[in-house]
Order: sequence, then structure tokens, then C-alpha cells
Amino acid sequence: MSTDLAQTLAQIVGAEHVSTAEAYRAQHAKDQSSHTAHLPDVVVWPASTAEVSQIARYANTERIAITGWGAGSSLEGNSIPLRAGIVIDFGRMNQILAIHQQDFQATVQPGIFYKDMNKLLARNGLFFAPDPGANASIGGMIANNAAGTRTVKYGATRDNVLALEVVLANGQVIRTGSRSVKQSAGYDLTHLFTGSEGTLGLITEATLKLHPLPEHFSAVVASFENTLNAADAVYAVIGSGLNPAALELLDAASVRFMNTRVTSLPEKPTLLMEFHGASQAAIESELVLVREVCNECGCSRFEAGVGRAERDRLWEGRHALGEILFSIYPDSIYLITDVAVPISAYPALAAYANGLYAELGLHGALFGHAGDGNLHTVNFAPKHDAAQQARLQEFNDRVVQKAIALDGTCTGEHGVGIGKQQYLVHEHGAAAVEVMRQVKHLFDPHGILNPGKVVG
Ligand SMILES: Cc1cc2nc3c(=O)[nH]c(=O)nc-3n(C[C@H](O)[C@H](O)[C@H](O)COP(=O)(O)OP(=O)(O)OC[C@H]3O[C@@H](n4cnc5c(N)ncnc54)[C@H](O)[C@@H]3O)c2cc1C
Repeated sequence: MSTDLAQTLAQIVGAEHVSTAEAYRAQHAKDQSSHTAHLPDVVVWPASTAEVSQIARYANTERIAITGWGAGSSLEGNSIPLRAGIVIDFGRMNQILAIHQQDFQATVQPGIFYKDMNKLLARNGLFFAPDPGANASIGGMIANNAAGTRTVKYGATRDNVLALEVVLANGQVIRTGSRSVKQSAGYDLTHLFTGSEGTLGLITEATLKLHPLPEHFSAVVASFENTLNAADAVYAVIGSGLNPAALELLDAASVRFMNTRVTSLPEKPTLLMEFHGASQAAIESELVLVREVCNECGCSRFEAGVGRAERDRLWEGRHALGEILFSIYPDSIYLITDVAVPISAYPALAAYANGLYAELGLHGALFGHAGDGNLHTVNFAPKHDAAQQARLQEFNDRVVQKAIALDGTCTGEHGVGIGKQQYLVHEHGAAAVEVMRQVKHLFDPHGILNPGKVVG
């Protein structure tokens, strides 16, 4: 089957842009999670919307699965081709098509990686704010509705996408949204495709909201004697009406892991913050209040006004944390939680997760984009230790249940993929999940787009 399939695809994109080689299939069989790899039959690298459309039309007729692929950095199995078939790697569709300087917008292809894009946009004094730790593609970020350290001020990917071009399952090409920042014309398809994990359509172009690079900024490192005080300070900072551009919580273990490669911070529960402002004076006066609020929550060391080089190293360390963890426990199974709650519930959520470590005897790290209520834990168990793995799952289940009980969500930014499907009914109710299934059926009646994900 794969030979015929590869030959057909070669007629669409050229033989050099199709591969059934084991190495390429293996490279596109697995994301960065612990979910089991599945080999696709074939990998294809189209160069245009027209080629993506032809591939989809053919696959739809033949009932062949298609899974979109950006950088493969998902954490819930989102990009694993569960039903084999075709993986469309968007790596050749990686151009900035237009920069609308006066409107702070850019139109780009999905395969561009956000760090590369931001380097190019910096020449124009602009940046795209969502920043997941990995160098993800824009298509993958839109498909997962990724977020990051700057979401507390600038929003998640969904808040920064204005318009899309999408290839539907049957090959039809549609455009959604517009370049207007206000849009009220009909159903909001742009934001339905955003976060749909490639299960409703294939994104071939996106118009993004950008921001001017901040002229004035200050980084803050606040250390605390325990994680609960640090979590209290998160709520106190946001609750005081302060407007951090980043507010990250790190437990002592997370700081220790970051220190092994990048930083040299006191190994205590820590808040990393950043403030952006129109003038240095405006930031200075905000920092006075931040210090007061942190002190009231038991801050033991407060360092503000960290210079550019040190600030860059702090964020490099924070962004490297995931990679550091995965490399320290290379032969382990790991489970990542990605819960998020309203900010007033953050201290309760952090206290609960923190307490579970002692109760279940687990090792790992607790951290998160705390300013927007997002908490991550990454916990490890040896590959052959079934009992420890069961405790990982129990930890995950209980933290998710707690987050939902606090009016939160099982996933703030990583998406449902394979790993979070079990929680959807609990979070949304059976009737709402049934509506999601109907939406999926409407867009993709033959179930060829990333089958087995989100609603199965
Ligand atoms: C170390 C590390 C840190 C991370 N930190 C964060 C973080 O802070 N915040 C965060 O949100 N995430 C984080 N992630 C997860 C990951 O980076 C994001 O989910 C990211 O959005 C995935 O992008 P990608 O390009 O790798 O997409 P992929 O993994 O390739 O694909 C993601 C999904 O999008 C679909 N897809 C890809 N391209 C298209 C397209 N053009 N059209 C339609 N569907 C498509 C895929 O089928 C899949 O369902 C982290 C991952 C790692 C490894």
C-alpha cells in the first residue's frame, strides 16, 4: 500500500519530497511525550496550499489518515499518527508572507518555527508573544493553542490569531477571519480551528497579532522558604492589579534542575517575574509594590532590576527546564500535568499537588506559568516499575480532579491529544462532548484528520 501511496504523493509534490524510509517514518512517529510511537506509512513535505489540498482530496477519497506535523514537540501525543497513513510535515512551508508593520501583524506559513520568526520580526521591532519552551512551529502552536511564559500579559496563541487559511478534509480551501482586530461576522471558525489539533482541518496560512518589542523591562527573582508561600504570592501579585509580563512559579527541585545547566539561583521555591513598561520610572514604581506584596507572603530574598544578560539567562534556564528534566531521567516513563485554574484558586491547587508528592512518594518537579493559573508537574517512574507508574497516573488523575473541582481545566495549553481524552466528559459533561463529536463529524465525516485525538 505504501508504495502506491508514495507514488501518488510523488506526483503531487515531487518524488524527492516523499519518503517511506524507516528513519523518516520513525522521526515522525512520536512527539515529546511518553505515549507509544506509531509509524506512519509515508511522510510528505508539500510546498503550497494547492499541494496540501490535493493530498487531502486523495486521502479523503481513499480513507487514508492524515496527521499534520510541525516540530513534533507536543506533550500529549497530539502529533503521533495513531492510524498510520500520511504525515504532512509543513517544514517547507516556512515563510513570512507579509509583515503589516503599521498594524502590528504578520501573515505566515504554518511551518515557520516561532523562535526563527521572532528573530526575523525583531528587525522590525516586533514579536509574536506566545512562547512555548520548545521551538515549536506556528501551525503546531495554533493547532494546540499553545501558550507560555508571556501569556499572563499577552494571551495564548488563540488570542493572537486573526485569520487562517485552512484545507478541509475533502481538499476544499477556506479562509476564516480577517485582519480587523474586532470581528463579529458569523461563527468564529478561526478560533474553532485554533486548538483543534489538526482534527478539523490543515492550517496552511495564518495572520498573527504582533506586539512592539518592549523598550523598558525588568526581571525579578523572588525566593521563598516554601512552595505554598510562593503560590500565595502569585495570587497576591495578580490580585493587587499588577501587570507582570511573566510570572513563573518554580519549586526548589525545579530550580535545582535549572541550576545543573544554566542558572545559579538559590535552591528555594522561586517566582521569576518580568515587567514591561513605557518608561523605567513606571516599572520602578510597580516594582516597589511587587516587593511589598512578596514580602507580605514571606519572601526571603527579592532581587529586582536584573540586567539584560542575566534576565536572558533566567529565561533560557526556564525554557530549558523541560529538556533538562527529560535528559536527567532518560530511561523513565514521565507524566506531565498541565492543569489551570482561576487565579484565586492557584494557592489551593499548588498546595494540593505539593502535598501529593509526599503522600505518593514521587520524584519530579512542580512549576508553571503561575500568573495565568497554569500548573505543571513532571514526574518520573522507572520503565519496569509498574507500581510507581500507577502512582504517576494516580497523581495525574487526582491533580486533574482537583483542578476541575476548582472550576479549572485538565489542560491549559498542551491540548487533549491522547492523554487527556479520559477527562473531557468530567470537565465538560457528556452532552457538550457529544456536540464536539458532531462538529468533528461535520468537518471530517470519514475521520481521516488526525484520527484518535481529542474526541477519539
Ligand atoms: C521542552 C518543552 C517545553 C514545552 N513548553 C510548552 C509551553 O510552555 N507551553 C505550551 O503551550 N506548550 C509547550 N510545549 C509543547 C509544544 O511545544 C506545543 O504543544 C507546541 O504547540 C507544539 O508545536 P509543534 O510545532 O511541535 O507541533 P506538533 O507537535 O508537530 O503538532 C501539534 C499538533 O498540531 C497538529 N498540526 C501541526 N501542524 C499543523 C497544521 N499546519 N495544521 C493543522 N494541524 C497541525 C499536529 O497534528 C498535532 O496535533 C513544550 C514542549 C516541550 C518539548
